[in-house]
Amino acid sequence: MEGVVTRTTGSFHSVRSDDGIIMNCKLKGNFRIKDIRTTNPVAVGDRVLVEWHPDKQLGLITKIFDRDNYIIRRATKLSKESHIIAANMDQVVLVACVAFPRTSTGFIDRFLVTSEAYHIPAVLVFNKTDLYPPELLAPLAELEAIYKAAGYPFLKVSAVNGEGLQELRAILKDKVSLISGHSGVGKSTLINVLEPALKLKVLEISSYHLKGQHATTFAEMLPLTGGGYIIDTPGIKEFGLTDFNKKEVAERFPEMRALMHECRYSNCTHTNEPGCAVIPAVNAGRIAPSRYDNYLRIFYGRDWGEDKY
Ligand code: GDP
Ligand code: ZN
Repeated sequence: MEGVVTRTTGSFHSVRSDDGIIMNCKLKGNFRIKDIRTTNPVAVGDRVLVEWHPDKQLGLITKIFDRDNYIIRRATKLSKESHIIAANMDQVVLVACVAFPRTSTGFIDRFLVTSEAYHIPAVLVFNKTDLYPPELLAPLAELEAIYKAAGYPFLKVSAVNGEGLQELRAILKDKVSLISGHSGVGKSTLINVLEPALKLKVLEISSYHLKGQHATTFAEMLPLTGGGYIIDTPGIKEFGLTDFNKKEVAERFPEMRALMHECRYSNCTHTNEPGCAVIPAVNAGRIAPSRYDNYLRIFYGRDWGEDKY
């Protein structure tokens, strides 16, 4: 039987068969995945072949089909091993806020660079619009202009008053979407509003920043009644590139990518070269200063300090 991994906890994996039956499974034997050293051989979103044993009510995963894409993070800070967060996504959705809590452009741009590196379309969803006082509406409009100009879908939503939820539903429909964003931005609340039957745990606003709040960190694929799936990633703060190639950073910024071929030197780093096509676009305001600044920070591998989360 073929199916999709919807949840993995330790050595047990839930697999949804093509006719919608959830099977409790284990891996058969040892699995090796080419090229990547991972701590988990099978991830949420993986398409697998299952040998079902009705007597034991247990399935054995005998094959993992090639992944269209996957995203990883380093298993631990110093580790060379990676942890696959999810596989075979149609898009990644970053839930963000301009306040309560604020999502920095550094965080957003690292997220977008990562999604570009994995060739997975990204969507930005700014939640809690019901909370924003007038003085925060201008920064929100500015962010909207920046990211729409860079080519990203940008939604303004409120899980509380329902603003933008219809558009969000339309974006999620019939797709496999990974939902990301730091703790407290309202991911669980939004998912619960979209799918009340799921009843995800929503943290009190006062406690979301407490350390260790999310002890368990496993991704889970949840069905949407309107069609499609979301992959919830509780406790996963940020995903990342394990192999980082400086030369590729500019290509991960669509608005820079569109201009780079006009630079005089093909190996232009867009930092100080004569004849660079990117720098004048920044000076003329056609590329947002925050985007260029974050390009430089990623390019030089600068410490993000307070901006990290
Ligand atoms: P998560 O950590 O991203 O899953 O965030 P939660 O869903 O746990 O939400 C964190 C807090 O923000 C909770 O107190 C929610 O009630 C609150 N919240 C979520 N969405 C909204 C919204 O659209 N408007 C307002 N005012 N509060 C929200
Ligand atoms: Zn250049």
